[in-house]
Amino acid sequence: MRIAVVGSGYVGLVAGACFADLGHDVILVDNDKEKLAALKDGQVPIHEKFLPELLNRHRGQRLSFSDDLEQAVRACSAIFIAVGTPSTEQGEADLSYVESVARQITGGVEEYKVIVEKSTVPVYTSEWIRKIILRNGASPESFDVASNPEFLREGTAVTDFLFPDRIVVGCDNDRCAAVLREIYEPLTSGTYYKRADAIPQPDRASIPAPIIVTSTKSAELIKHASNAFLAMKISFINAVASMCESVGASVNQVCHGIGTDSRIGPRFLNPGIGYGGSCFPKDVMAFRAVARECGYDFRLLDEVMRINEDQRHRFLRKVRSALWTLRGKHLGVLGLAFKGGTDDIRESPAILIVQSLLQEGCKITAYDPAAMERTREVMNSGIKFVNSAYEAATAADALLILTEWEEFANLDLNRLNTELKYPIVIDGRNLYDPEVMAASGFTYYSVGRAASHPEGVPALKNGTHKA
Ligand code: NAD
Repeated sequence: MRIAVVGSGYVGLVAGACFADLGHDVILVDNDKEKLAALKDGQVPIHEKFLPELLNRHRGQRLSFSDDLEQAVRACSAIFIAVGTPSTEQGEADLSYVESVARQITGGVEEYKVIVEKSTVPVYTSEWIRKIILRNGASPESFDVASNPEFLREGTAVTDFLFPDRIVVGCDNDRCAAVLREIYEPLTSGTYYKRADAIPQPDRASIPAPIIVTSTKSAELIKHASNAFLAMKISFINAVASMCESVGASVNQVCHGIGTDSRIGPRFLNPGIGYGGSCFPKDVMAFRAVARECGYDFRLLDEVMRINEDQRHRFLRKVRSALWTLRGKHLGVLGLAFKGGTDDIRESPAILIVQSLLQEGCKITAYDPAAMERTREVMNSGIKFVNSAYEAATAADALLILTEWEEFANLDLNRLNTELKYPIVIDGRNLYDPEVMAASGFTYYSVGRAASHPEGVPALKNGTHKA
């Protein structure tokens, strides 16, 4: 199959590289000329495991790059739209990039094409795409619009794409569904997984990948509802974590107790500093707006957003209660990306916390394995970037853990203790056991668990310790 993917960002680039790995000929289209030049030159613009291998494998063979959308549409049978759908000021999805692509696609629609929404879009978007393409002169039989929402997570995007829990395909007729079934056939038949050069299988893979074929509107709703549900799960456990802190219970024990109920499940019950990234915040807001437009007042989602924001403020209060005054304090920060495994800092709670601390007069020394370059582009005063977790800790009044990178969970605690001016760790990701931290000489704060202190350091009533 010849496939065009429009938008070579986190989703488009991964989808394009994976489609090539499934045996398709792919043209990746973008209007960012610098990005295209870098891709043609062999560079990999985002940090994503296995992506460099796939790009090397297929660049110049099954995978090409272009800024000529019309030409790409002419050459391909399926056109995936994977451009951004950011929030408007009112919290709705801004669909202007999608509309602009739909308009440009029309010129290349001659023989039958399937136009596929890969971007996360509100219900009814497929109908709008269809209207725009018809309005610009394509004939009604020359194309169909399908929805194929993407569920990949940054950090594990390639394996999520190739080993999905399910593939959702929303089509309103069999002809269009047949094209999408053919594209994903190597995954749904399982032939891809038998190949010696297949990307290694992660834990918990559903093989062969299940495919769910629905109406286009249902598929559009599935994506928004999934993200809203996951965000709700995070806010729910964060609210429970706050209760645990009030009564002196352990959120780990509570999560274990509720997560072993098979109706609930253990995944996504990780309390922390709240969700962020380019998807959950905007998708929950957009889903709220869609619901309003459809006549349903989905107030549950307001509460999900409120708890999420409050979680960051609670963490900042914890920093204040650990350190008393903040002006002039030197803080080491581990993690800037919105989650581990990615360089994406869009809506990162870590960045929002660092910005608040800078405003309060703290001096920040930060380390992130992948996101420092992007952070430098948006923040350059008051923050010093260093090359290791230990350097970030050096002479700091306290160390803050803000992103759950694996390497932050395996630090040499003796070394960390030596580097810090005061052995205080405030962990927004619950990477350590409070008892182990206390035994290693740290005063340790985390989320939904009591603060722990080294022996001989008396705790104050509010959880801080006498320095
Ligand atoms: P992104 O900003 O990383 O990439 C978008 C790309 O589209 C950019 O390279 C941009 O230059 C390009 N673009 C914009 N307008 C264009 C045009 N007219 N023609 C050609 N290219 C154009 O965005 P992303 O994170 O890949 O997200 C894309 C969509 O996928 C969004 O709707 C998002 O909600 C959804 N999604 C994202 C993720 C994720 O983890 N990032 C996961 C699932 C779904």
